[in-house]
Amino acid sequence: ALHGGATDDILKSLHKQFTIDDQTLFKITTTFLSEISDGLSSYGRAMAMMHVSPTFLSYAIPTFVKGVPDGSETGTFLALDLGGTNLRVCEVTLQGDQTFSLRQQKYKVSEALKTGEVTTLFDYLADSVDAFLTESSTPSKEPSSLIGSDPYAASNQDTPYLPLALTFSFPVEQSALDSGVLLTWTKGFSAKNAVGKDVVKLLQDAFDRKHIHVKCVALVNDTVGALLSRAYTSGGCILGAIFGTGTNGAYVEEVSKITKLGNSAAAAAGGDMIVNTEWGAFNNSRSALPTTPYDNKVDRESINPRFQAFEKFISGMYLGEIARNVILSMIDAAPKPILFGGRSSDQLNKQWGLDTALLSEIEEAWEGLGRFSLSPGSVEVTELEKLRRIQGVLVKRLELSPPDISLADADIVRQACTLIASRAARLSATAVAAILVHTGRARLWDQGEQSSAGLKDEGKRIGVGVDGSLVEFYPNFQTKLRASLRMLVGPEVESRVDIGMAKDGSGVGAALCALVAQRQS
Ligand code: ADP
Repeated sequence: ALHGGATDDILKSLHKQFTIDDQTLFKITTTFLSEISDGLSSYGRAMAMMHVSPTFLSYAIPTFVKGVPDGSETGTFLALDLGGTNLRVCEVTLQGDQTFSLRQQKYKVSEALKTGEVTTLFDYLADSVDAFLTESSTPSKEPSSLIGSDPYAASNQDTPYLPLALTFSFPVEQSALDSGVLLTWTKGFSAKNAVGKDVVKLLQDAFDRKHIHVKCVALVNDTVGALLSRAYTSGGCILGAIFGTGTNGAYVEEVSKITKLGNSAAAAAGGDMIVNTEWGAFNNSRSALPTTPYDNKVDRESINPRFQAFEKFISGMYLGEIARNVILSMIDAAPKPILFGGRSSDQLNKQWGLDTALLSEIEEAWEGLGRFSLSPGSVEVTELEKLRRIQGVLVKRLELSPPDISLADADIVRQACTLIASRAARLSATAVAAILVHTGRARLWDQGEQSSAGLKDEGKRIGVGVDGSLVEFYPNFQTKLRASLRMLVGPEVESRVDIGMAKDGSGVGAALCALVAQRQS
């Protein structure tokens, strides 16, 4: 036995706090469904965001992207992607056979840029595009060749501007493919004088100020990008979802169901339109989410307390921070510390000091994955050896001194990480299930054995494109998500769901959006 009584009690209590039972998952999914409906019928949340402080209304943002690609699209486009840890500029060529080529450059976004004046941030975006274009001198980057090769050029012969799509992954109320107003910042951004402004105009003004000959023709959310790029490379997709710094999803909706479009031209046109759910803000009232004191602490100390409730349980920006708070509470436990002999480190004491990548690494060490994978033919590693590895990871990443970390400590930390990540994966499944149920592709399975007769796309594959470090790298994240999805919608529907990475989704999706912009103009 690794642990004693007090430790066992703490672990049991953690278990209880972080485990969401099946019934609660159904309840969360049901709440999700009603929030989606609310979002489709009213602009309540958007309005409230701009005029009042905390609001518990729902999003569901029409993106003005009609339908999805099938892989036959062609063209070369610039894309700029702002939305999380890095800023990316890329040039994407769609080859028309479900493949693409892409050249990209990443640029850091400093804290000063994230929190300073918005014009400084957008000047930096424009400068990064300029630097990208200057660095590349192959003929295809000449403005004339880009513009001349596509339909956009026909109507713009006298303006030698490069068309660019902006992937901007924050809540934006779009009014057209190429305009949208920032509703609020998320994910640690808080640049001043941005909320309420049209982000395409902010970017275009920056290009124009600097005489950079680039025209922003489309505004895309990264979830929309994931959906479009997955559709392009796989031939079909109904949902794009991000599990990275933040979490969000976009899906294909029937225009007739987006009743808040009222009597607008978009509504009259009918057909399908991609809706950006902004599900990171799902259940901001927390009426359905089983919140622990650790979640409350993370939320209270974040720059957007009470907002993005769902996201704060799930995404990369927060899981490490939840783990840090759990670990600190065990270091500080009275009358006797539970972890590390009561010692902490500067790294561990710092807000955001524990990256979600560390949770990943600990689970890899335990599961024998990633750099801990067994080479073929080698003998199975003992649990003790696995705990030694975790010990090594903790010493290195948390700058703790080796004598302070026992193997029992390593085991406690591992269990805490698994609890936090499993909860995230299970909650993520409620979002996917809600979209499947909402679009008529599934029924909630809590009534027991059910037939899938009459469901939309009955018997067909259901494409879901995902992106983000959490879903790409976190051990078993997708497996756990699928298991909960199976529980929620039943095995028949779950087995038809194809979850695939939307690699380079923001770049390729943006390119596809730029193409749509050209066709619609
Ligand atoms: P973004 O969402 O900003 O475009 P990513 O998808 O790379 O970018 O997500 C970055 C987030 O993922 C960060 O919050 C980071 O903590 C987390 N992360 C980075 N590497 C890993 C990993 N190996 N496993 C789990 N999470 C990770």
